[in-house]
Amino acid sequence: MANNKLHVKKGDTVVVIAGKDKGKKGKILQAMPAKSRVVVEGVNIIKKHTRPTQKMPQGGIVEKEAPVHVSNVMPFCPKCGKGVRISKKELADGKKVRNCHRCGEVFDK
Ligand SMILES: [Zn+2]
Repeated sequence: MANNKLHVKKGDTVVVIAGKDKGKKGKILQAMPAKSRVVVEGVNIIKKHTRPTQKMPQGGIVEKEAPVHVSNVMPFCPKCGKGVRISKKELADGKKVRNCHRCGEVFDK
């Protein structure tokens, strides 16, 4: 894609369509348009070792979501109950919204 716009954004619920977390569903916690990646809640969890701190003198392992490529996720439509393609439409007041390609459910409220 020439521009850096993603088809999903922060707060969207998406379904993973490829990779080890295929089929998982979660909310986008962070969008990184410049890298075409998103961080999805509960998806692509990695274990990260942390340095010892006063709280955890031994250091520790935290589980954290790693970014996934945006092409591996699809917007989840609650009406269709699955990941869907989205289309765009313009409302009467000129506002552009994204909606479900299948059932027309509007994602931007
Ligand atoms: Zn739908």
